[in-house]
Amino acid sequence: MSTKPTSDPGGQRSGPGLFPAGPLAETPDLQGAYPRLSGSQIAALEALGQRRTVAPGEVLFAEGDRNCDFYVVLAGHVAGVEGHGEPEGRVIAVHGRGRFLGELSLLTGEAAYYTAVAVEAGELLVVPGERLRDLVARDPDLGDLILRACLLRRSILIGLAVGLRIIGSKYSPDTRRLRDFAARNRLPYRWLDLEADPLAEELITQLGVAPEETPIVIAGQLLRNPSNAELAAAIGLPVPSPLDASCDLLVVGAGPAGLSAAVYGASEGMRTVALDGIATGGQAGTSSRIENYLGFPSGISGAELADRAVLQARKFGARFAVPAEATSIEQDGGQYTIRLDDGTTLTASSVVIATGARYRRLDVPRLAHFEQMSVYYAASHAEALSCRGDPVAIAGGGNSAGQAAIFLSRHAAQVTLIVRGHDLAEYMSRYLIDQIQRIANVQVLLDTEVRELLGNEALEAVAVEDNRTGARRVLKARALFVFIGVTPSTGWLVGLVGLDDHGFVRTGPDAGPAARGAAGAEARWRRPALETSRPGIFAVGDVRSGSAKRVAAAVGEGAMAIRLAFERVRPG
Ligand SMILES: Cc1cc2nc3c(=O)[nH]c(=O)nc-3n(C[C@H](O)[C@H](O)[C@H](O)COP(=O)(O)OP(=O)(O)OC[C@H]3O[C@@H](n4cnc5c(N)ncnc54)[C@H](O)[C@@H]3O)c2cc1C
Repeated sequence: MSTKPTSDPGGQRSGPGLFPAGPLAETPDLQGAYPRLSGSQIAALEALGQRRTVAPGEVLFAEGDRNCDFYVVLAGHVAGVEGHGEPEGRVIAVHGRGRFLGELSLLTGEAAYYTAVAVEAGELLVVPGERLRDLVARDPDLGDLILRACLLRRSILIGLAVGLRIIGSKYSPDTRRLRDFAARNRLPYRWLDLEADPLAEELITQLGVAPEETPIVIAGQLLRNPSNAELAAAIGLPVPSPLDASCDLLVVGAGPAGLSAAVYGASEGMRTVALDGIATGGQAGTSSRIENYLGFPSGISGAELADRAVLQARKFGARFAVPAEATSIEQDGGQYTIRLDDGTTLTASSVVIATGARYRRLDVPRLAHFEQMSVYYAASHAEALSCRGDPVAIAGGGNSAGQAAIFLSRHAAQVTLIVRGHDLAEYMSRYLIDQIQRIANVQVLLDTEVRELLGNEALEAVAVEDNRTGARRVLKARALFVFIGVTPSTGWLVGLVGLDDHGFVRTGPDAGPAARGAAGAEARWRRPALETSRPGIFAVGDVRSGSAKRVAAAVGEGAMAIRLAFERVRPG
């Protein structure tokens, strides 16, 4: 069954055969994701690559290929196809003259998530991937046009669920782990639920996979219940490398604070390595829209902010390792050695602690059981898809709970915001309260706390209690989102740096007297702001005692820590 690709970006079957000859409708550029390059832009790219002809049906890059070249269509048409050659294959987009192929993985070095196939004979301009990355880093016009298109195309792929295929039961904690990992890393994926999707069963039988080997991931290759690190390595995320063993600056945690430190550290010429246990972007990466970050009047998604920052840091030479969780830190003379969860050690003279905070868990029975499938600590596109059309509950009264309510109201049938306090304005910004009050399918319950989670396998309802009267009621909820405050991620610091009573890292004068400075000058010398009780270790963002818990503050602190680290190693 081979059908002609159409202009529907929602995807059409491509079938196992070649495309038929004849004129084709290009995918329209509705969102600015498929710009057509001008003659002068093509000429600029031509200086970096070469022209070549292409035959109908020729595969330019295939799903799973790494470090692909960049192609501009000069004549003819090229289609992006998911599952090329398979009965279920579908066309993602068709590009004609002046359009280019690829998406964000072109710039990150990740594996391609679909196959590019020439629909008819034509001509292409081919630019090696390395040169394209240089261009994006140094050309503010053409580079930014390509970058913007790549970011938009990534969100289109995520929306279409084109990319990795995760096949596993909704009751399996490993399925949930892999889906979370893909979502946090903004990897496009489709989940086939073994409990509900006949295709899932069919596929695992065809692939000869035993039920106990599930979940599986199809990522150009077949992975049987991979660890997060194995999945990362298979798709080309930047895993820890021996090259990173010794550097000037280690940034632990790649949320906004760590990303900022990585950008500024690398741009000051420090050999910089940034690591993160889960994904770049941190908490902000899970935010659908950050509306109070300077310079983005209509808001910016946390995912876009993170992707842009990673590319920016890499442009200056920073290296990343994800997933790479720091498990301990030791001092050896003027150097610090950090041990990762895979046993690797990394050494640097300056360390920026940017490990942020994690959301607190509710103290209710059976939480661990429901956490495997129905309780969430982020409200991104992936979670929204899981509870589309269902009633959901959100516990929490701060800005993250408010943002989640607004975002989920577009996907869920009904959203109930369960707030322990008496006044929403106590912890939530006015602009969010105003929006919430205008949304018909969001109800707010004040003075209310979650007491019980009800259901067998998956969550069906929550029992809540009015904390003034003790009255209980049951609310239907297929998912519970929890945003009830944060706990700092500081367990790995094992007593090396001073913490406050809540476990946040003390910095500046609060961290105790400075160890540096000439005797007698001690009284005049104040420990630099952001430096911890150990010289050369700085703490920034949400992990720092007394921090503002805002993206802009985290970013500012990341930049400032670099200034201080730089002055320390190169005084004067
Ligand atoms: C849903 C949501 C919406 C939000 N919206 C807004 C908003 O609109 N405006 C605003 O100003 N703020 C917002 N915030 C708050 C904002 O996101 C945080 O203040 C900000 O992300 C803090 O940045 P950070 O880099 O300090 O820490 P985090 O963002 O918490 O990042 C810390 C990173 O460190 C990693 N890490 C932790 N431990 C380790 C370890 N041992 N080894 C390696 N890596 C580790 C984590 O995986 C994480 O990626 C929101 C938060 C959430 C959750």
